[in-house]
Amino acid sequence: MEKIDILSLNLEELEEKLAEIGEKKFRAKQIFKWLHERRVFDFDEMTDISVQLRCKLKEEFCANRLFIQKKLESSIDNTVKYLYRLSDGNFVETVLMEYNYGHSICVSTQVGCKMGCRFCASAIAGFVRNLEPSEILMQIYETEKNAGVRVSGVVLMGIGEPLDNYSNVIRFLELLSHKDGNNLSLRHVSLSTCGIVPKIYELSELRLGLTLSVSLHSADNDRRSEIMPVNRTYNIPLLIKACRDYIDKTGRRITFEYAVIDGVNSSDADADRLSALLRGINCHVNLIPVNKVKERNYSTARRGVENFANQLKKRGINATVRRTLGSDIEAACGQLRRDAGLKYKNNDLNGGADN
Ligand code: SAH
Repeated sequence: MEKIDILSLNLEELEEKLAEIGEKKFRAKQIFKWLHERRVFDFDEMTDISVQLRCKLKEEFCANRLFIQKKLESSIDNTVKYLYRLSDGNFVETVLMEYNYGHSICVSTQVGCKMGCRFCASAIAGFVRNLEPSEILMQIYETEKNAGVRVSGVVLMGIGEPLDNYSNVIRFLELLSHKDGNNLSLRHVSLSTCGIVPKIYELSELRLGLTLSVSLHSADNDRRSEIMPVNRTYNIPLLIKACRDYIDKTGRRITFEYAVIDGVNSSDADADRLSALLRGINCHVNLIPVNKVKERNYSTARRGVENFANQLKKRGINATVRRTLGSDIEAACGQLRRDAGLKYKNNDLNGGADN
């Protein structure tokens, strides 16, 4: 019998599972706190639980750890990038960033990605599978343990499309913010999507208080379809309608992500289109110099980004340029996993980290 992934269960499910093996309900909260508050994953270390119950727990449940396959530390800005190996030998990336106010972490939601955005390294390595809620959460717990910090912000901007793994991501958010567990307010969480419209509507119904980031990258429908195939299914008018609905329902401002690419989306005409599209919407535009991906020849001159930001400001659009972090450690998402996939595929995966 396959063991139950205990770190993906919410408190109610844990109560049910314990009842099924003849245990009292209150034990669930005790165990939940050990896992999510105290970060103890070995049942034998749960000292206020009887030896008998610990044995039962070991038979029924597993708490899967992630293993550090590689760790890269930026010498410029303290950004740390982890390549984690999952229990089935797949890899995901997690990035820990330091800001004036504390630490923020960028987590992956899938092994690979189906969305095929042209400028993204994750698209090149292809899609393997969804991450379980526990595998998203453990990127945070393991990183905090390794780095000796507590993160104050979480962004779902690593490998994968969060809204393409909707139910696991929602469960992850529930666990992340649970008052008997990790207890992080969703006000400190950003979820980034390429624009899966029906899921944006579904998410708005939950009124979660997180920040929705929408990867727009072009206000020209044909151009967006070229660089982001998802636009062929959910085009710009449909996407903007869903965004307006999201803002109405949640009262939250949306962030539009815009990777500035020379010769693709940063002309004055692009600034005209973008400002016309976003006029009157409660939003903020985050400009990112496109990260170089070696299989593609997209690039941005720093000047290009600043110029585009100025063009938007002139047109009354609230735009900022994202600080580039970890530029010396390939912090662009998907690059490490893609390289590791080639390097480690046939290696013995039982070995330790190579950091
Ligand atoms: N799938 C989600 C989240 C993961 S990508 C999404 O599309 O939003 C996180 C962000 O990084 C997105 O805004 C994505 O468009 C952007 N991105 C991907 N590759 C990039 C690159 N090479 N340079 C700059 N931004 C990139």
